[in-house]
Amino acid sequence: MKIAINGAGIAGATLAYWLSKLGHEVLLIEKAAAVRTGGYILNLWGLGYDVAERMGLLPHLMGQKHHVDELRMVDQKGRTCGGYPAQVLMRLTNNRLMALARSDIAASIYALLDDRVETIFDDSIAAIDDDGQRVRIRFEHAAPREVDLLVGADGLHSRVRELAFGPESKFEYPLGCQVAAFEVESYRPRDQLVSVMHGVPGRYVSRFPIRDDKTLFFLAFRDEYLAGASPSNEAERKLALTTAFADLDWECPQIISALPDVRNLYFDKISQIRMHSWTQGRTTLVGDAAACPSLIAGEGAGLAMAEAYVLAGEIHDGRGDCTAALSRYENRMKAFVLGKQKRATSLVSSFVPQSRFGVAARNFGTSLMKLPVFPEILMGRYLHDDIKLPDYAM
Ligand SMILES: Cc1cc2nc3c(=O)[nH]c(=O)nc-3n(C[C@H](O)[C@H](O)[C@H](O)COP(=O)(O)OP(=O)(O)OC[C@H]3O[C@@H](n4cnc5c(N)ncnc54)[C@H](O)[C@@H]3O)c2cc1C
Repeated sequence: MKIAINGAGIAGATLAYWLSKLGHEVLLIEKAAAVRTGGYILNLWGLGYDVAERMGLLPHLMGQKHHVDELRMVDQKGRTCGGYPAQVLMRLTNNRLMALARSDIAASIYALLDDRVETIFDDSIAAIDDDGQRVRIRFEHAAPREVDLLVGADGLHSRVRELAFGPESKFEYPLGCQVAAFEVESYRPRDQLVSVMHGVPGRYVSRFPIRDDKTLFFLAFRDEYLAGASPSNEAERKLALTTAFADLDWECPQIISALPDVRNLYFDKISQIRMHSWTQGRTTLVGDAAACPSLIAGEGAGLAMAEAYVLAGEIHDGRGDCTAALSRYENRMKAFVLGKQKRATSLVSSFVPQSRFGVAARNFGTSLMKLPVFPEILMGRYLHDDIKLPDYAM
Protein backbone atom coordinates (compact mmCIF):
# COMPACT_ATOMS: atom_id res chain seq x y z
CA MET A 1 0.00 0.00 0.00
CA LYS A 2 0.91 3.66 -0.29
CA ILE A 3 0.83 5.01 3.24
CA ALA A 4 1.36 8.61 4.37
CA ILE A 5 2.37 9.21 7.98
CA ASN A 6 2.09 12.74 9.31
CA GLY A 7 4.73 13.40 12.00
CA ALA A 8 8.28 12.02 12.13
CA GLY A 9 8.30 11.71 15.93
CA ILE A 10 8.56 8.52 17.94
CA ALA A 11 5.26 6.97 16.77
CA GLY A 12 5.65 8.08 13.14
CA ALA A 13 9.21 6.84 12.71
CA THR A 14 8.44 3.50 14.42
CA LEU A 15 5.46 2.95 12.14
CA ALA A 16 7.50 3.96 9.07
CA TYR A 17 10.18 1.45 10.09
CA TRP A 18 7.78 -1.51 10.28
CA LEU A 19 5.66 -0.62 7.25
CA SER A 20 8.67 -0.02 5.01
CA LYS A 21 10.23 -3.27 6.24
CA LEU A 22 7.05 -5.02 5.09
CA GLY A 23 7.42 -3.52 1.63
CA HIS A 24 4.83 -0.74 1.79
CA GLU A 25 5.56 2.59 0.13
CA VAL A 26 5.79 5.05 3.00
CA LEU A 27 5.75 8.84 2.90
CA LEU A 28 6.64 10.66 6.14
CA ILE A 29 5.66 14.29 6.55
CA GLU A 30 7.22 16.45 9.27
CA LYS A 31 6.33 20.03 10.05
CA ALA A 32 9.80 20.82 11.42
CA ALA A 33 12.83 21.30 9.17
CA ALA A 34 14.50 18.17 10.61
CA VAL A 35 13.70 15.44 13.13
CA ARG A 36 12.86 17.40 16.25
CA THR A 37 15.29 17.59 19.13
CA GLY A 38 14.61 18.82 22.67
CA GLY A 39 12.69 17.37 25.57
CA TYR A 40 13.67 15.65 28.78
CA ILE A 41 14.69 12.16 29.86
CA LEU A 42 12.09 9.49 29.14
CA ASN A 43 12.17 6.03 30.66
CA LEU A 44 11.70 3.28 28.11
CA TRP A 45 10.40 0.02 29.57
CA GLY A 46 7.55 -2.45 29.13
CA LEU A 47 6.00 -2.73 25.69
CA GLY A 48 8.12 0.10 24.27
CA TYR A 49 11.29 -1.68 25.36
CA ASP A 50 9.98 -4.89 23.74
CA VAL A 51 9.30 -3.07 20.46
CA ALA A 52 12.78 -1.50 20.51
CA GLU A 53 14.18 -5.02 20.99
CA ARG A 54 12.20 -6.34 18.02
CA MET A 55 13.53 -3.46 15.93
CA GLY A 56 17.10 -4.46 16.86
CA LEU A 57 17.48 -1.03 18.43
CA LEU A 58 18.57 -2.04 21.93
CA PRO A 59 22.36 -2.16 21.33
CA HIS A 60 22.24 1.34 19.87
CA LEU A 61 20.01 2.70 22.64
CA MET A 62 22.31 1.13 25.26
CA GLY A 63 25.03 3.41 23.95
CA GLN A 64 22.74 6.43 24.30
CA LYS A 65 21.26 5.71 27.70
CA HIS A 66 21.89 7.87 30.74
CA HIS A 67 22.79 6.42 34.04
CA VAL A 68 21.97 7.81 37.45
CA ASP A 69 22.40 5.97 40.73
CA GLU A 70 19.96 8.03 42.71
CA LEU A 71 16.73 10.03 42.41
CA ARG A 72 16.99 12.65 45.15
CA MET A 73 14.36 15.07 46.46
CA VAL A 74 15.76 18.23 48.07
CA ASP A 75 14.22 21.07 50.10
CA GLN A 76 14.66 24.81 49.56
CA LYS A 77 18.16 24.67 51.08
CA GLY A 78 19.26 21.69 49.00
CA ARG A 79 18.99 19.21 51.91
CA THR A 80 17.86 15.71 51.00
CA CYS A 81 14.20 15.18 51.97
CA GLY A 82 13.30 12.06 49.99
CA GLY A 83 14.26 9.87 47.07
CA TYR A 84 15.47 6.39 46.32
CA PRO A 85 18.19 4.47 44.45
CA ALA A 86 17.57 4.18 40.69
CA GLN A 87 18.25 0.46 41.08
CA VAL A 88 14.73 0.10 42.52
CA LEU A 89 13.22 0.85 39.08
CA MET A 90 15.61 -1.60 37.43
CA ARG A 91 14.53 -4.32 39.85
CA LEU A 92 10.83 -3.64 39.22
CA THR A 93 11.34 -3.98 35.48
CA ASN A 94 13.75 -6.94 35.52
CA ASN A 95 16.50 -4.61 34.30
CA ARG A 96 14.47 -3.82 31.18
CA LEU A 97 14.40 -0.04 31.56
CA MET A 98 16.53 2.68 29.98
CA ALA A 99 16.65 6.39 30.75
CA LEU A 100 17.02 8.12 27.38
CA ALA A 101 16.84 11.69 26.17
CA ARG A 102 13.64 12.06 24.14
CA SER A 103 15.61 13.50 21.24
CA ASP A 104 17.98 10.48 21.20
CA ILE A 105 15.05 8.03 20.97
CA ALA A 106 13.44 9.97 18.11
CA ALA A 107 16.73 10.34 16.21
CA SER A 108 17.73 6.68 16.73
CA ILE A 109 14.46 5.36 15.32
CA TYR A 110 14.55 7.75 12.38
CA ALA A 111 18.13 6.69 11.58
CA LEU A 112 16.89 3.10 11.07
CA LEU A 113 14.84 4.18 8.08
CA ASP A 114 17.86 4.72 5.80
CA ASP A 115 16.63 5.57 2.32
CA ARG A 116 13.63 3.27 2.46
CA VAL A 117 11.26 6.08 3.35
CA GLU A 118 10.68 9.42 1.65
CA THR A 119 10.37 12.28 4.14
CA ILE A 120 8.97 15.69 3.37
CA PHE A 121 10.29 18.11 6.00
CA ASP A 122 9.13 21.65 6.64
CA ASP A 123 5.62 21.07 5.38
CA SER A 124 2.19 20.36 6.76
CA ILE A 125 -1.02 18.84 5.53
CA ALA A 126 -3.49 21.56 4.51
CA ALA A 127 -6.51 19.42 3.59
CA ILE A 128 -7.56 15.80 3.21
CA ASP A 129 -10.25 14.17 1.13
CA ASP A 130 -10.93 10.61 2.31
CA ASP A 131 -13.52 8.67 0.27
CA GLY A 132 -13.14 5.45 2.28
CA GLN A 133 -10.90 3.85 -0.37
CA ARG A 134 -8.19 6.45 -1.02
CA VAL A 135 -7.07 9.65 0.68
CA ARG A 136 -6.12 12.71 -1.34
CA ILE A 137 -3.75 14.98 0.58
CA ARG A 138 -3.04 18.62 -0.11
CA PHE A 139 0.03 20.18 1.48
CA GLU A 140 0.92 23.73 2.36
CA HIS A 141 3.88 23.58 -0.06
CA ALA A 142 4.39 20.20 -1.75
CA ALA A 143 2.33 18.90 -4.66
CA PRO A 144 -0.78 16.87 -3.69
CA ARG A 145 -0.53 13.09 -3.21
CA GLU A 146 -3.00 10.23 -3.14
CA VAL A 147 -2.52 7.32 -0.75
CA ASP A 148 -4.31 4.17 0.45
CA LEU A 149 -3.97 5.10 4.09
CA LEU A 150 -3.19 8.26 6.04
CA VAL A 151 -1.87 7.98 9.61
CA GLY A 152 -1.76 10.94 11.98
CA ALA A 153 1.34 10.48 14.14
CA ASP A 154 1.58 14.19 14.75
CA GLY A 155 1.40 14.30 18.51
CA LEU A 156 -0.86 15.88 21.11
CA HIS A 157 -1.86 18.76 18.82
CA SER A 158 -2.45 16.54 15.80
CA ARG A 159 -3.36 18.23 12.53
CA VAL A 160 -4.71 15.01 11.01
CA ARG A 161 -7.00 14.52 14.02
CA GLU A 162 -8.29 18.05 13.63
CA LEU A 163 -8.94 17.62 9.89
CA ALA A 164 -10.55 14.18 10.12
CA PHE A 165 -12.25 14.17 13.53
CA GLY A 166 -12.69 17.77 14.68
CA PRO A 167 -11.09 20.29 17.01
CA GLU A 168 -8.69 19.29 19.79
CA SER A 169 -11.12 20.60 22.42
CA LYS A 170 -13.48 17.67 21.65
CA PHE A 171 -10.88 15.10 22.71
CA GLU A 172 -8.56 16.87 25.13
CA TYR A 173 -8.54 16.20 28.89
CA PRO A 174 -6.30 18.89 30.37
CA LEU A 175 -4.68 17.78 33.61
CA GLY A 176 -4.22 21.31 34.90
CA CYS A 177 -0.43 21.59 34.57
CA GLN A 178 2.20 22.96 32.21
CA VAL A 179 5.58 21.45 31.52
CA ALA A 180 8.92 22.64 30.16
CA ALA A 181 12.22 20.95 29.39
CA PHE A 182 15.51 22.43 28.27
CA GLU A 183 19.26 21.89 28.24
CA VAL A 184 22.01 24.07 29.76
CA GLU A 185 25.76 23.69 29.17
CA SER A 186 28.29 23.65 32.02
CA TYR A 187 25.65 24.19 34.70
CA ARG A 188 26.92 23.98 38.27
CA PRO A 189 26.36 22.33 40.69
CA ARG A 190 26.50 19.00 38.88
CA ASP A 191 25.82 15.79 40.77
CA GLN A 192 27.30 13.32 38.34
CA LEU A 193 25.05 10.32 38.95
CA VAL A 194 22.05 11.93 40.61
CA SER A 195 18.76 13.26 39.33
CA VAL A 196 17.86 16.07 41.76
CA MET A 197 14.25 17.21 42.25
CA HIS A 198 12.71 20.06 44.22
CA GLY A 199 8.99 20.58 44.73
CA VAL A 200 6.82 23.18 46.46
CA PRO A 201 3.03 23.41 46.30
CA GLY A 202 2.00 23.74 42.65
CA ARG A 203 5.52 23.65 41.23
CA TYR A 204 8.28 21.16 40.57
CA VAL A 205 11.77 21.41 39.09
CA SER A 206 14.44 18.80 38.46
CA ARG A 207 17.84 18.50 36.88
CA PHE A 208 19.48 15.51 35.24
CA PRO A 209 23.19 15.36 34.25
CA ILE A 210 23.80 14.25 30.65
CA ARG A 211 26.82 13.88 28.36
CA ASP A 212 29.20 16.66 27.28
CA ASP A 213 28.81 18.53 30.57
CA LYS A 214 25.18 19.37 29.79
CA THR A 215 22.29 19.34 32.25
CA LEU A 216 18.66 18.72 31.34
CA PHE A 217 16.03 20.63 33.32
CA PHE A 218 12.41 19.73 33.74
CA LEU A 219 9.88 22.20 35.17
CA ALA A 220 6.21 21.55 35.82
CA PHE A 221 3.61 23.83 37.38
CA ARG A 222 -0.11 24.12 37.94
CA ASP A 223 -2.06 26.26 35.48
CA GLU A 224 -2.82 28.87 38.16
CA TYR A 225 0.84 29.97 37.97
CA LEU A 226 0.29 30.98 34.35
CA ALA A 227 -1.83 33.78 35.82
CA GLY A 228 -4.18 33.72 32.82
CA ALA A 229 -1.40 33.95 30.21
CA SER A 230 -1.40 31.69 27.13
CA PRO A 231 2.20 31.88 25.96
CA SER A 232 2.38 31.21 22.23
CA ASN A 233 6.02 31.84 21.33
CA GLU A 234 9.40 31.11 22.90
CA ALA A 235 9.86 34.55 24.46
CA GLU A 236 6.42 34.38 26.10
CA ARG A 237 7.08 30.86 27.34
CA LYS A 238 10.38 31.87 28.93
CA LEU A 239 8.61 34.79 30.58
CA ALA A 240 5.85 32.48 31.85
CA LEU A 241 8.47 30.16 33.39
CA THR A 242 10.36 33.06 34.93
CA THR A 243 7.15 34.37 36.51
CA ALA A 244 5.97 30.97 37.73
CA PHE A 245 9.29 30.10 39.42
CA ALA A 246 10.37 33.60 40.50
CA ASP A 247 9.74 33.14 44.23
CA LEU A 248 11.28 29.67 44.62
CA ASP A 249 14.49 28.99 46.51
CA TRP A 250 16.94 26.13 46.00
CA GLU A 251 18.72 26.70 42.64
CA CYS A 252 15.67 28.23 40.98
CA PRO A 253 17.04 31.80 40.59
CA GLN A 254 20.08 30.34 38.82
CA ILE A 255 18.02 28.01 36.64
CA ILE A 256 15.70 30.83 35.62
CA SER A 257 18.66 33.09 34.87
CA ALA A 258 19.89 30.50 32.33
CA LEU A 259 16.63 30.71 30.35
CA PRO A 260 17.47 33.64 28.02
CA ASP A 261 20.26 31.59 26.40
CA VAL A 262 18.25 28.39 26.12
CA ARG A 263 17.69 27.05 22.59
CA ASN A 264 15.08 24.45 21.83
CA LEU A 265 12.77 24.98 24.77
CA TYR A 266 10.04 22.31 25.02
CA PHE A 267 6.91 23.78 26.59
CA ASP A 268 3.41 22.35 26.52
CA LYS A 269 0.34 21.79 28.62
CA ILE A 270 -0.11 18.38 30.21
CA SER A 271 -3.16 16.83 28.59
CA GLN A 272 -4.57 13.52 27.55
CA ILE A 273 -6.38 12.70 24.32
CA ARG A 274 -9.37 10.39 24.65
CA MET A 275 -11.37 9.36 21.60
CA HIS A 276 -14.16 6.86 20.97
CA SER A 277 -12.56 5.84 17.70
CA TRP A 278 -9.11 6.38 16.23
CA THR A 279 -10.17 5.66 12.68
CA GLN A 280 -12.37 7.37 10.10
CA GLY A 281 -12.44 5.79 6.64
CA ARG A 282 -8.82 5.42 5.50
CA THR A 283 -7.47 7.85 8.09
CA THR A 284 -6.23 6.62 11.45
CA LEU A 285 -4.20 7.92 14.39
CA VAL A 286 -1.30 6.58 16.44
CA GLY A 287 0.71 7.70 19.48
CA ASP A 288 -0.18 10.93 21.26
CA ALA A 289 -2.43 11.96 18.37
CA ALA A 290 -4.75 9.03 19.17
CA ALA A 291 -4.41 8.56 22.89
CA CYS A 292 -1.85 10.79 24.58
CA PRO A 293 -1.52 9.40 28.11
CA SER A 294 0.36 12.58 29.20
CA LEU A 295 3.88 12.63 30.50
CA ILE A 296 2.58 11.81 33.98
CA ALA A 297 2.04 8.26 32.72
CA GLY A 298 5.80 8.25 32.10
CA GLU A 299 5.27 5.88 29.21
CA GLY A 300 4.08 8.00 26.25
CA ALA A 301 7.03 7.07 24.06
CA GLY A 302 6.76 3.34 24.81
CA LEU A 303 3.01 3.24 24.24
CA ALA A 304 3.42 5.18 20.98
CA MET A 305 5.96 2.59 19.80
CA ALA A 306 3.69 -0.28 20.83
CA GLU A 307 0.68 1.22 19.01
CA ALA A 308 2.79 1.74 15.89
CA TYR A 309 4.02 -1.85 16.02
CA VAL A 310 0.51 -3.27 16.44
CA LEU A 311 -0.89 -1.05 13.66
CA ALA A 312 1.81 -2.26 11.26
CA GLY A 313 1.31 -5.87 12.38
CA GLU A 314 -2.45 -5.78 11.87
CA ILE A 315 -2.06 -4.19 8.43
CA HIS A 316 0.34 -6.99 7.57
CA ASP A 317 -1.97 -9.70 8.92
CA GLY A 318 -4.98 -8.11 7.21
CA ARG A 319 -3.49 -8.88 3.76
CA GLY A 320 -5.32 -6.09 2.00
CA ASP A 321 -8.39 -5.75 4.24
CA CYS A 322 -7.43 -2.41 5.62
CA THR A 323 -10.73 -1.69 7.38
CA ALA A 324 -10.60 -4.92 9.40
CA ALA A 325 -6.92 -4.33 10.22
CA LEU A 326 -7.61 -0.84 11.56
CA SER A 327 -10.43 -2.07 13.73
CA ARG A 328 -8.29 -4.93 15.15
CA TYR A 329 -5.54 -2.39 15.90
CA GLU A 330 -7.96 -0.28 17.93
CA ASN A 331 -9.51 -3.27 19.68
CA ARG A 332 -6.12 -4.54 20.80
CA MET A 333 -4.82 -1.23 22.10
CA LYS A 334 -7.63 1.12 23.12
CA ALA A 335 -8.81 -0.34 26.44
CA PHE A 336 -5.23 -0.96 27.53
CA VAL A 337 -4.20 2.64 26.81
CA LEU A 338 -7.33 3.97 28.51
CA GLY A 339 -6.29 2.06 31.64
CA LYS A 340 -2.89 3.78 31.47
CA GLN A 341 -4.61 7.15 31.10
CA LYS A 342 -6.79 6.57 34.15
CA ARG A 343 -3.79 5.61 36.27
CA ALA A 344 -1.90 8.69 35.09
CA THR A 345 -4.84 10.92 36.04
CA SER A 346 -4.73 9.53 39.56
CA LEU A 347 -1.05 10.53 39.81
CA VAL A 348 -1.46 14.27 39.10
CA SER A 349 -1.87 15.17 42.77
CA SER A 350 1.39 13.46 43.73
CA PHE A 351 3.23 14.71 40.62
CA VAL A 352 2.61 18.40 41.43
CA PRO A 353 0.90 18.46 44.86
CA GLN A 354 -1.09 21.58 45.67
CA SER A 355 -0.40 21.80 49.41
CA ARG A 356 2.60 21.63 51.74
CA PHE A 357 1.15 18.49 53.23
CA GLY A 358 0.91 16.96 49.74
CA VAL A 359 4.55 17.80 48.98
CA ALA A 360 5.69 16.32 52.31
CA ALA A 361 3.61 13.18 51.73
CA ARG A 362 5.04 12.74 48.21
CA ASN A 363 8.60 13.17 49.51
CA PHE A 364 7.95 10.70 52.31
CA GLY A 365 6.48 8.25 49.77
CA THR A 366 9.68 8.42 47.72
CA SER A 367 11.71 7.58 50.86
CA LEU A 368 9.60 4.45 51.39
CA MET A 369 10.84 3.23 48.02
CA LYS A 370 14.16 2.38 49.72
CA LEU A 371 12.45 -0.23 51.88
CA PRO A 372 11.58 -3.78 50.85
CA VAL A 373 8.06 -4.44 49.49
CA PHE A 374 7.13 -0.73 49.15
CA PRO A 375 8.44 -0.30 45.59
CA GLU A 376 6.10 -3.04 44.40
CA ILE A 377 3.16 -1.58 46.37
CA LEU A 378 3.74 2.03 45.33
CA MET A 379 5.05 1.70 41.77
CA GLY A 380 4.54 -1.90 40.68
CA ARG A 381 1.21 -1.42 38.96
CA TYR A 382 2.51 1.61 37.04
CA LEU A 383 5.52 -0.28 35.74
CA HIS A 384 3.79 -3.44 34.60
CA ASP A 385 1.99 -3.62 31.27
CA ASP A 386 -0.99 -5.93 31.43
CA ILE A 387 -0.87 -7.01 27.79
CA LYS A 388 1.79 -8.78 25.77
CA LEU A 389 2.87 -7.68 22.32
CA PRO A 390 1.36 -9.90 19.64
CA ASP A 391 3.84 -11.82 17.49
CA TYR A 392 3.44 -10.88 13.84
CA ALA A 393 5.41 -12.50 11.06
CA MET A 394 7.31 -9.34 10.20
C1 LIG B 1 10.32 18.33 20.82
C2 LIG B 1 9.54 17.42 21.74
C3 LIG B 1 9.96 17.30 23.07
C4 LIG B 1 9.25 16.46 23.93
N1 LIG B 1 9.68 16.37 25.23
C5 LIG B 1 9.04 15.56 26.09
C6 LIG B 1 9.47 15.44 27.45
O1 LIG B 1 10.41 16.08 27.87
N2 LIG B 1 8.80 14.60 28.25
C7 LIG B 1 7.74 13.86 27.81
O2 LIG B 1 7.18 13.08 28.57
N3 LIG B 1 7.31 13.96 26.54
C8 LIG B 1 7.92 14.79 25.67
N4 LIG B 1 7.47 14.92 24.38
C9 LIG B 1 6.31 14.12 23.97
C10 LIG B 1 6.72 12.69 23.71
O3 LIG B 1 7.72 12.65 22.73
C11 LIG B 1 5.49 11.95 23.26
O4 LIG B 1 4.53 11.98 24.30
C12 LIG B 1 5.70 10.48 22.96
O5 LIG B 1 6.96 10.18 22.54
C13 LIG B 1 4.67 10.01 21.90
O6 LIG B 1 5.24 10.26 20.63
P1 LIG B 1 4.46 10.74 19.35
O7 LIG B 1 5.34 10.34 18.22
O8 LIG B 1 3.06 10.29 19.37
O9 LIG B 1 4.42 12.32 19.47
P2 LIG B 1 5.62 13.37 19.39
O10 LIG B 1 6.87 12.80 19.95
O11 LIG B 1 5.09 14.62 19.96
O12 LIG B 1 5.87 13.55 17.80
C14 LIG B 1 4.97 14.21 16.95
C15 LIG B 1 5.73 14.64 15.70
O13 LIG B 1 4.80 15.21 14.79
C16 LIG B 1 5.28 16.43 14.31
N5 LIG B 1 4.14 17.27 13.95
C17 LIG B 1 3.32 17.96 14.78
N6 LIG B 1 2.39 18.61 14.05
C18 LIG B 1 2.63 18.33 12.75
C19 LIG B 1 2.01 18.71 11.53
N7 LIG B 1 0.96 19.53 11.50
N8 LIG B 1 2.53 18.24 10.38
C20 LIG B 1 3.62 17.40 10.39
N9 LIG B 1 4.24 17.03 11.52
C21 LIG B 1 3.76 17.47 12.68
C22 LIG B 1 6.10 16.98 15.47
O14 LIG B 1 7.04 17.95 15.05
C23 LIG B 1 6.77 15.71 15.99
O15 LIG B 1 7.94 15.41 15.28
C24 LIG B 1 8.12 15.74 23.48
C25 LIG B 1 7.69 15.87 22.16
C26 LIG B 1 8.39 16.69 21.27
C27 LIG B 1 7.92 16.83 19.83
